Amino acid sequence: MILTSQLPIWPVITAKAASLRGLIFCAACGLPLHPMRLPEGRRAYRGVCGCRLGPVDADTVERLVADAAEREVPAVFGGVPAGQRAVIVRRSVAAIRLGGTVDDLSIVWRT
Ligand SMILES: [Zn+2]
Repeated sequence: MILTSQLPIWPVITAKAASLRGLIFCAACGLPLHPMRLPEGRRAYRGVCGCRLGPVDADTVERLVADAAEREVPAVFGGVPAGQRAVIVRRSVAAIRLGGTVDDLSIVWRT
């Protein structure tokens, strides 16, 4: 008999773990990029389409999108703790199209 307390505890996927999940797409073909963890432990986003040569660093792209969102809707970010920036980004962004490099971003804002 297996007690539920003996079952492995799966890691909780928090907004921080992949704050752009479902929002980030390949600019070339439009397919979604999926969050993943690289062998060395870093987080990344990667598409299955093959348009990009490799995964894009999650911390970098999330920071670039958050900075862009803060420029786009500065009033919303006033006094927001750093840990909650990802929540506001998700509310502000409708879609992100990522091109060949991490800074080749095209952001569609929610209206
Ligand atoms: Zn693609």
